[in-house]
Amino acid sequence: MTPGVRPLIAGNWKMNGTLRDAAALAEGVRAGLDRAPNADLLICPPFLHLHVAAASMGWKPVAIGGQDCSAEANGAHTGDVSAAMLADAGCGFVILGHSERRADHGETDAQVQAKARAAIEAGLIPVVCVGETEAQRDAGEAEPVVAAQIAGSLPPDFARAKGVVAYEPVWAIGTGRTPTEADISAMHGRMRAELVALFPGQGETTRLLYGGSVKPSNAVSILALPNVDGALVGGASLKADDFLAIAAAV
Ligand code: PGA
Repeated sequence: MTPGVRPLIAGNWKMNGTLRDAAALAEGVRAGLDRAPNADLLICPPFLHLHVAAASMGWKPVAIGGQDCSAEANGAHTGDVSAAMLADAGCGFVILGHSERRADHGETDAQVQAKARAAIEAGLIPVVCVGETEAQRDAGEAEPVVAAQIAGSLPPDFARAKGVVAYEPVWAIGTGRTPTEADISAMHGRMRAELVALFPGQGETTRLLYGGSVKPSNAVSILALPNVDGALVGGASLKADDFLAIAAAV
């Protein structure tokens, strides 16, 4: 935790489920909200399920987010979805630069930065993901890799727009493996220092999420670490009960 920063627990549903599943999951989260009075909640369904999830929330109080957006405002970009379209569909947030997008679609820091700029222009809060591969950690490069991703992926108005950074070590995503608490603390401390250097006066309270195999059984210890202001949850966010248990851990 960071003093004075309200935690954010975000669910990244990735490419899972049907419309009916999305409606049921969103309804399950909404119905159990009372279990998590100390955190803000965010769910990020696939594009086609955003509307039904938003409708289920009555547009609040659980925030809705996309999992990506275009860096362009509109026009001839077949298959893309703009930040303004996400906002129009009820989103307040958008996940950007997830390692699966960096790996599957070759997204670079510069592209993520352009998308974050577009998101902010559309009134969305970007949740920018960073994280090292296992080879980079083994080579002792985890902190400089993440620091470079932060410097390259965040636009100048990121902190002012209340942007969120999620540290997701690539090797911990969907694997059941997590870094040690000492490693998470060290990385989040480094990230805080980078953010304060980039955004003096604002980076001190930028929300820093941890993501990668967060589940109810490890949430309490991870969320208690300094500079961990919430979690980005993948697999465990697909069950309302698990997601709420994680959110109740703060
Ligand atoms: P996981 O995914 O919780 O399934 O490890 C996290 C993420 O990729 O955001």
